[in-house]
Amino acid sequence: MRTGYSALSTQHSRGGGAISAQDCLFCKIVAGSIPAQVVWQDATATAFRDLNPQAPVHVLIVPNRHVASIGDLAAEDDALGGELLRTAAQLAEQEGIAASGYRVVINTGPAAGQSVAHLHLHLLGGRRLGWPPG
Ligand code: AMP
Repeated sequence: MRTGYSALSTQHSRGGGAISAQDCLFCKIVAGSIPAQVVWQDATATAFRDLNPQAPVHVLIVPNRHVASIGDLAAEDDALGGELLRTAAQLAEQEGIAASGYRVVINTGPAAGQSVAHLHLHLLGGRRLGWPPG
């Protein structure tokens, strides 16, 4: 589902290692210039199916605006953080995994395996999820 939103991607990063929104894979998916299986989009966030799913339901939820990681969220982004979490819960309902249970993961930095420098929530469900995670 694409709602016709055109992305307002601007660079937003503190510290080194920032990439520009123009070079960001997920900014391009938000803008529709790289294809993805988009399952949700509004003025704040876009959700699409992970290319390499780790569970029967594996959806990524990203802010439309370029934010590199949760470490780059500012106080004025508090509402954004809440919206991303609420979107995850709504998508769990939409995907039919709310009742059985699901996991929301935010990998941050190299040790956690963050491979795309655009904040994203993994919504995982549809099977029993082990703990602790690998
Ligand atoms: P992370 O390792 O936490 O940064 O998660 C990045 C995720 O993005 C991985 O699960 C990848 O499979 C996924 N991914 C990478 N490229 C794409 C793409 N073009 N479309 C959908 N998912 C992607």
